[in-house]
Amino acid sequence: MKIIRVCLVAVVCAGLLTSSVWGATDDPVSFKQSVAQAGGTWCRTQEIFDARYPDRNNKDAQACPIEGPCDLVVNRDANIPNPGDPSLTIRLKFHILCNDDGTNCASTQAAVDAQMELTNQEYAPYGVTFVYETEFNNSTQYRSWADNEESGLKNTFADEPDKQCNIYVTYVEGSYSFGTFPWDNTALTNMGGIVMTEPAFGFNEKTLTHELGHCLGLWHTHHGVDEVTECGQCYERADNSNGDVAGDFCSDTRPTPTNFNCNDPSGNEPCTLTPWAPTDPQNYMGYSPDFCINEFSPQQAGRIHCWFAQELTGWVALGFLGDPREGSESVTVNFTYDSPLAGNSFKWYFGDGDSAMVENPTHTFGPGIFDVALTVSTDVGEITAVEQQFVTVWADTLDAPPVEEAPNTAGYWEINCTNALPVTEFILPVTLTNVTSVLFLDSVSFVGTRLDYFESKQVVFDNRFVGQLAYRVQANVGGGAPPLPPGSGPIARVHYRTRVNADPGDTSYIAMTPLSAYTLKATTLTTNYEPVFNGATLNVVSGCECPNQADIEPDNFVTALDLSACIDILFAGASDVQDPLCPSPRFDADCDNFTTALDLTVVIDHLFAGGAGPCDPCAL
Ligand SMILES: [Zn+2]
Repeated sequence: MKIIRVCLVAVVCAGLLTSSVWGATDDPVSFKQSVAQAGGTWCRTQEIFDARYPDRNNKDAQACPIEGPCDLVVNRDANIPNPGDPSLTIRLKFHILCNDDGTNCASTQAAVDAQMELTNQEYAPYGVTFVYETEFNNSTQYRSWADNEESGLKNTFADEPDKQCNIYVTYVEGSYSFGTFPWDNTALTNMGGIVMTEPAFGFNEKTLTHELGHCLGLWHTHHGVDEVTECGQCYERADNSNGDVAGDFCSDTRPTPTNFNCNDPSGNEPCTLTPWAPTDPQNYMGYSPDFCINEFSPQQAGRIHCWFAQELTGWVALGFLGDPREGSESVTVNFTYDSPLAGNSFKWYFGDGDSAMVENPTHTFGPGIFDVALTVSTDVGEITAVEQQFVTVWADTLDAPPVEEAPNTAGYWEINCTNALPVTEFILPVTLTNVTSVLFLDSVSFVGTRLDYFESKQVVFDNRFVGQLAYRVQANVGGGAPPLPPGSGPIARVHYRTRVNADPGDTSYIAMTPLSAYTLKATTLTTNYEPVFNGATLNVVSGCECPNQADIEPDNFVTALDLSACIDILFAGASDVQDPLCPSPRFDADCDNFTTALDLTVVIDHLFAGGAGPCDPCAL
């Protein structure tokens, strides 16, 4: 998993609470109110969400369920920005609709720039900055837009919706605008983004601030009153009894009926008979006129940061690329700054103690897993992006010492692993050669090795009669066992038994070539890879040892003492001696497997007549 954090150090999150004086009860009719008076709705974000997800519509029947972890107080409050906190920089993409011939555009670049200057000013106190691109899209069809054309418009013009918020500006029949909640499954698809109606966009317009609020996780401040069942479980009561768990899930935005004015509504909330006042008509997420809205609440800011981190990190404006990002032993990575923000200066931190101060550096990494950070000075401040576990370099090797074995003997190859990275899983496909003539493949064991504590050791391929056996071993399958730490030592033993009729000089070879779908593999926290394994041999040796032939009293010499012992064996009933690894008894000097007078002759000749001495049974 990749985690991106973007910090906008230059923006100081001061002034979360602002105050202003707003008007008397005779406010002029606002655009929002005029749409309502014509029977329309200025913002249809909620209606469109309810239509898409009817199962989430009747919240009261479901006890006001949450849409995700950011609806929980603990997560919301943990994300409330403090002055000087890291800030978000979010990418927007404007699509300004024009006629087919490029005329009659719904807005101008100057109006887009003015809109964004205002929107950025309004979000600055909450640690959010937007960067944007503008594209003029020619389509007479969508230059006047009806709500049954949503998928047509968006599927035609959406651009990288997983990397930026697409915003379409055109004339909307019904004069409404709408955004897409981050918990909507379509938020990062073509069907996400914002549709802005032309008269509500441009110089001195605040509708975009409101719609972006929806996209970043905010409900209307009147959600808990006018968009749920009255006095139902999701109804937000004016007595402060359920502001955190009902309505807009912010207890610092008091419930209110939909309010087109700058002053508090009159009257009482009907369930607890508490007066509505005081409310927050100055909140961007209400319907009050643009000239008197000027704030988000601290809890709304917490929801914005929480929902962004939860669902929308792909929209972060500052990023960088690296190629390649993994490899073996030593990897040279080419880094590229990737952002629509022009950078004035750069400082890269590679996570291995080195840094660089060019825009697109190249850096060589040794074994390890590295977090990479980039701090860029831009016209909107100094921004830092961190990508955790961005580069992975492994240097893992497996080896096994060669073995020598006599026929008809059980033994094992010990497989050692030297790993530079923590390993969570191995796949070990074992192939032995010459199994028909030299040995049997018995099993693979892990007892007493570094993998002994792994929770799962599973045979995944078993054709051991032809010398093939594959294991998957996993550290944690639910019990929480940690990865194998970097180090060196045995991880497995491959057990065999040499065949009875194997001959000295025969060989077998252990390899870890793929068996069916099972390729030698180690998995670390960020990737998986094939460690190096060079194989190892088994040599069959005779297993015969007769160092004491005719040396009955073993002292490495055949002497008169041995002659006496031989005579005792032959004529006095003494027992001959059988060495366990020797095919014949000691007093079998001619190697015919019998103890006879001929053997005595060989010994006497050797002792007194310069004879060659006893034979070697192992040489036969
Ligand atoms: Zn709205």
